[in-house]
Amino acid sequence: MTNNTTYNNWLRHIAGNNALIIAGPCSAETEDQVINTAIGVKKAGGHIFRAGIWKPRTRPGNFEGVGAIGLKWLQKAKATTGLMTAVEVANPHHVELALANDVDILWIGARTSVNPFSVQEIADALRGVNKPVLVKNPINPDLALWIGALERIEKAGIKNLGAIHRGFSSYKKMPYRNEPLWQIPIDLKTRFPELPLINDPSHISGKHENVFDIAQTAIQLMFDGLMIETHINPEKAWSDARQQITPETLAGFIPQFVPPNDRVFNPGLLKNFKVLRKDIDDIDTELVNLLRQRQEKIEEIGRLKLKENLAIYQKERWLDILNKAIHNAQENNINQKFIEQLFRLLHQESLKIQHRVFKENQV
Ligand code: PEP
Ligand code: MN
Repeated sequence: MTNNTTYNNWLRHIAGNNALIIAGPCSAETEDQVINTAIGVKKAGGHIFRAGIWKPRTRPGNFEGVGAIGLKWLQKAKATTGLMTAVEVANPHHVELALANDVDILWIGARTSVNPFSVQEIADALRGVNKPVLVKNPINPDLALWIGALERIEKAGIKNLGAIHRGFSSYKKMPYRNEPLWQIPIDLKTRFPELPLINDPSHISGKHENVFDIAQTAIQLMFDGLMIETHINPEKAWSDARQQITPETLAGFIPQFVPPNDRVFNPGLLKNFKVLRKDIDDIDTELVNLLRQRQEKIEEIGRLKLKENLAIYQKERWLDILNKAIHNAQENNINQKFIEQLFRLLHQESLKIQHRVFKENQV
């Protein structure tokens, strides 16, 4: 992929300078549910109506989507509301059916983008198609794999690309269904600034009450749009009931998703920024210098430990360092959790440094 400025055109064409809003149910369930939700999404100010037709479920025996019949309901929803439609495709057959039924935008789900064979099959089926295609991040936190999937679609001739950040699977106990790991989509945006980046707060949060905060964070981080699962009766939804919001709730959210200014036009402010940023750069240089000095002390202690045949890891010393750092953080009004994490990282690195010293000096 390149820094192609045309990646963005389709999105700006639909949403202008606003955040693009894709909303609709996790799954199409019945014709009434599809049409009424679409009417609600339109009223709320959404741009694109989504609905899952084929559902990748973690375990068999759950509702796996209504299948092709749902595409007819989407056509009707489009005719009723004027909204564009979007569905997930997981194989060439889905692509063929979606295109035959006038779906406007296709997306590749997180369980598919993880598999280059599947993505390539879909890419081949998309050759010659002139519709936007969005690629959700693979379920594992692997930026190269995400970029690879986007490249396969681009190489098939799709110009209107986009990426959807839906968080990453984790075995950790955490408040999210899927860990956001914001640095990964931000790295993608940094490498491809013109590639539209859409956030899916529903699959990240897994809970309707947390959707707004995640969506708001994404907007602050300069994401170009949001995909929000919306259902006329979330509690009764056949899939992902816990995370869907009503069209009325969506209507309350949308006016609050105002993209921040990414450019500073005021010259006075610009000067201020310059000065402050210069200061930050200087502090960062100093930080790295201090770390270099710290490393030298650690190497020296490493050599002494080797000479005296002492263990590299000294529990009392480590707990002492940690307690001092946390106390220091408290005194200086710095987040203690952050300082704790930082010092754990520093300590890990110190152990590594002393291991290296041991290896280099052992006879
Ligand atoms: C979905 O959008 O309904 C979906 C299945 O999402 P994901 O691929 O992110 O799990
Ligand atoms: Mn879902």
